Amino acid sequence: MQTMASQQNRQTQVVIIGAGLTGLSTAFFLKQKNLEVVVLEEKDRTGGQVQSFSERGFVFESGPNTGVLSYPEVVEMFQVLGDVELTTAREEAKKRLIWKGNRFHALPASLPSAVLTPLFTWKDKFRILGEPFRSKGNNPDETVAQLAARRLGRSFVDYAVDPFLSGVYAGNPNTLVTRYALPKLYNLEQNYGSFIKGSIAKAKEPKTERDRLATRKVFSAQGGLSALVKALTNHINGKDSQQNIITGAKEIRIKPGTDGLETTRWRTEFIHNGELCTLQSKYVITTVGSYSLPDMLPFIETEQLNRVNNLFYAPIVQAAVGYSEEALPHFQAFGGLVPSCEQQDILGILNPSACFGNRAPQGGSTLAVFMGGVRHPDYVQRSDRELEEMVLRNMHRMLGIRKDPQLLRLFKHAQAIPQYETNSGERFAAIEQIERQYPGLYLKGNLCGGIGMADRIHQAYLTAQAINV
Ligand SMILES: Cc1cc2nc3c(=O)[nH]c(=O)nc-3n(C[C@H](O)[C@H](O)[C@H](O)COP(=O)(O)OP(=O)(O)OC[C@H]3O[C@@H](n4cnc5c(N)ncnc54)[C@H](O)[C@@H]3O)c2cc1C
Repeated sequence: MQTMASQQNRQTQVVIIGAGLTGLSTAFFLKQKNLEVVVLEEKDRTGGQVQSFSERGFVFESGPNTGVLSYPEVVEMFQVLGDVELTTAREEAKKRLIWKGNRFHALPASLPSAVLTPLFTWKDKFRILGEPFRSKGNNPDETVAQLAARRLGRSFVDYAVDPFLSGVYAGNPNTLVTRYALPKLYNLEQNYGSFIKGSIAKAKEPKTERDRLATRKVFSAQGGLSALVKALTNHINGKDSQQNIITGAKEIRIKPGTDGLETTRWRTEFIHNGELCTLQSKYVITTVGSYSLPDMLPFIETEQLNRVNNLFYAPIVQAAVGYSEEALPHFQAFGGLVPSCEQQDILGILNPSACFGNRAPQGGSTLAVFMGGVRHPDYVQRSDRELEEMVLRNMHRMLGIRKDPQLLRLFKHAQAIPQYETNSGERFAAIEQIERQYPGLYLKGNLCGGIGMADRIHQAYLTAQAINV
């Protein structure tokens, strides 16, 4: 019989480092191709930034709350997994709110509301009529704020783009570069000359049955996103006699193999239960944050790895706030975002219980409040007491709720969301160069290829497609 230690010392086809959504989805798509995969994770649980909790009828997340069904493979993955249910946000919770003055206003969703909204100036409302005729930009490193100001006007930057980027990146439109941070938007202008013309042309493009799976609907999993992690983990471990996901794998070091054979061209050493273990493989895929790479890849020159490591991660504090009785009849929306020019101390409030069923006791609500980001990186260092006061103050000020919530949990993420700024081009080029120089080594994860959950699954799908044994 094989011992545990010998199970960890083996030859496999692909080793994946990190059991977050990227690592697990990559393993999933590789298993679909019948490849042998071992996933190494330093923590004692899988999921990485994805983690749901359930307490007294409240279901809440410490990391992502929702994704967007922007790629068919997201839907296909749920379909194959079977024992997790994909849920999409209710239509009645579609409304997005933006804070201006001393209250939330709905982001316009129709022509009359676009004309009447107080969010944008009259000058910019008229200006938008000229958007299809404005010439296209020629600065590839243009920031999202520069691009949006040029095409739409300053009030759209302040009251649409800025809060949107706070919601997605906890970032700053003056430093995020469009072609890296929002490549689809960048391509609309570059390929069609205008956002409006591009959106119309794209909507008219013929779509296959598979393309139609990408609906841009907001999704989660029934019972919270950890249900997806659990289903992926079970699927990857499967019924194989050997463990395919090894948690608690410490001090991982990847080294080129020494026997000259392609099948064993990589050696991955790690400590497990105090023992040194070694995996040999043809491929190694890292999906960890850039800050973990220098220790893991000691054979790569520091100067070369520094160009991958040039990444700043926005820190975020997320608070889960639960009310067990009807406290929020007027907040039946996806959520409310706060533009930075309004100088408030939170980034926004999401209402996952309005979007999905079974997230709060009957009639109650579970909210997610976001604080920090690139504009307030120090918040993550604040005491729980200060942060809780900040949450309660804003519940009162923004939503008019005076009573104490039945649930208040804080989650501090010191390195939450990578910021795709000007140096991203250098990072992507360095990654490509390393992958060319060291065949079989892939540097993946959200340091490239997008930060959203759908981007993670899409990258995993493409990586698995590129790997053949
Ligand atoms: C607070 C927050 C809110 C978010 N909200 C949303 C949202 O609403 N919608 C959305 O689409 N996206 C959101 N995101 C982004 C999204 O969650 C992430 O981009 C995605 O989950 C990252 O997955 P990953 O697998 O690439 O990285 P991770 O989840 O970070 O996984 C990496 C894994 O590698 C492991 N690891 C790290 N170092 C080592 C090492 N040295 N050895 C072994 N293992 C190691 C880690 O423990 C981890 O399990 C949010 C992120 C945060 C933090």
